[in-house]
Amino acid sequence: MASIVLFGPPGAGKGTQAVAIMRKTGLPQVSTGDMLRAALAAGSALGLEAKSYMEAGALVPDSVIIGLIDERMQQEDAKNGVLFDGFPRTIAQAEALENIEEIKVVVSIEVPDERIVERICGRYSCSDCGAVYHEKFNPTSVPDVCDSCAGRQMNRRADDNEDTVRSRLQAYHNQTAPLAEWYSNKGILLRVNGDQQIEDVASEIISGIGG
Ligand code: ADP
Ligand code: ADP
Ligand code: ZN
Repeated sequence: MASIVLFGPPGAGKGTQAVAIMRKTGLPQVSTGDMLRAALAAGSALGLEAKSYMEAGALVPDSVIIGLIDERMQQEDAKNGVLFDGFPRTIAQAEALENIEEIKVVVSIEVPDERIVERICGRYSCSDCGAVYHEKFNPTSVPDVCDSCAGRQMNRRADDNEDTVRSRLQAYHNQTAPLAEWYSNKGILLRVNGDQQIEDVASEIISGIGG
């Protein structure tokens, strides 16, 4: 089976929507951002290499990312396809992916720049299960208790501050946004309005991918 790509600017709702798509398709999520943060927390050489780029809101070099994906796709659970979240982010990554995995649809979650800063700066997540919340738009039902796993440890990402967000948006426009046209030319780009309620974005995606 082929894989799905979740595409969009930082804070578009890729991680949030991944939950609904995983439930629908059974595909495991492959988030390069999560993998890099795990490497960083583990203190591995790869984490150390990625650290300065992530802190600056710049993209980690393609060779590092492609190596990471290559290895991940050899694992047993990836054999029926995966849900890529935050990968590919450059044309070079997309070209490398062509030799690794077939992509059936690229879901582009479209959110205007002026919404991104408030989304990123209000984001927090559960340290235990990774569930993503937002201070204003999607808070936990009980303050600081995870709705998914009842965990009580909430976490904010070091790079979720206004300065870094501006750099990440710039990296998105310069290096990542051109991929939308690249995939559109291949006829597999599905554009979705990400500037609506979380459930409405999810319905648009699920009907679009033929769920
Ligand atoms: P968001 O979805 O909020 O933009 P991610 O968790 O996807 O954040 O990524 C966090 C950081 O990790 C990025 O700013 C970048 O430094 C790095 N990163 C993640 N995925 C990639 C990728 N595919 N290519 C290059 N850098 C990446
Ligand atoms: P990404 O993975 O693309 O960086 P996230 O899924 O982490 O984005 O979402 C970024 C922030 O915006 C989170 O705090 C999340 O709760 C919130 N969010 C996600 N989707 C929506 C939406 N449709 N409307 C309002 N807030 C949203
Ligand atoms: Zn949790």
